[in-house]
Order: sequence, then structure tokens, then C-alpha cells
Amino acid sequence: MTAFANPAATAVVDLDTCYCPNEPHDHDTVTIRTQFGYGDIMDLSRVHTNAGRIDPMAERAKLLELAITEWSFVGEEGESVPLGLPMILLLKPSIVEPIAEAIDAAWSAATVPVPNGRSGQSRGSSPVTLLASTNRAQRRAKKPSRPSSSSASAGPTSS
Ligand SMILES: [Zn+2]
Repeated sequence: MTAFANPAATAVVDLDTCYCPNEPHDHDTVTIRTQFGYGDIMDLSRVHTNAGRIDPMAERAKLLELAITEWSFVGEEGESVPLGLPMILLLKPSIVEPIAEAIDAAWSAATVPVPNGRSGQSRGSSPVTLLASTNRAQRRAKKPSRPSSSSASAGPTSS
């Protein structure tokens, strides 16, 4: 038992195949963190502050960024693809899905408070539930809704 999350605790997500050019791997792997601390929750919340509004998709992207620590993806020349948000955002959605599911499960296990005793049944209302439902909503909506263009309110123009 410890009071602290171990940021080095990881698990390997096995993808169904190798997605790299020339398929040098049996299948690709993505290493994700399995323990998260209070600071990680703060990092996720901060994306809303930075955006100046509630931005669930930015939070989702941030969760992927802070959870993925390693992956096997390489480029045309066999060079490893650098980790980071820019490349994460370029991943094909079908590949992100199993990774995101594993991260959601790890995040849920790490951050949802376990009620007294050892029956760790997940509860209805938690940030993870919000994340999961956001994901579903995103799949349904093809295009992100843009804020409707506000008509520029210029003062009365008298000629
Ligand atoms: Zn590969």
C-alpha cells in the first residue's frame, strides 16, 4: 500500500497487427501508464482553463498524451515515430480506439474512489464516465459543431 501513484507503472497494449511501413513487427504495441496521481487530474482540468471553456475533446487528447509513454510505430526508414500530441492526433481513429479503451480502464481504476471495503464496483458519476460518453458522442457527430458566427455589432451607421 502506498499513498502515491507510481508514474513509471505501465502496461502494454497489443494492437491487432503491425501498422508500420514494411510491417517490421509481429504487431504494434503501445505502452500506457497505469497509475495516475492528483497532478494528472490537475493537468486534465487545466486544458479547460487554457481553452477558456469546457473542452472535453482537449481533455481527451491530454489524457492520451499523458498516458502513452512508448509505442512501436516506425516510419518508412525504420526510424521511430516521436511520441507526442501532434503524432497522437494523426493516429487513425480505428487505431486510437483500443488504445483509448485501455487508457480509460486504467484511468478509471486509478481515479475512481473505491467505496469502503474491497468491492470496487465502478460508480455512475465520475470523470471517466464523462470521457467515455464524450467519446461516444464524438463518434456519432461527424463534424465538430462550430460556434455560430456572431453578427458583428457595429454601432448605428448614420449616413
Ligand atoms: Zn509496427
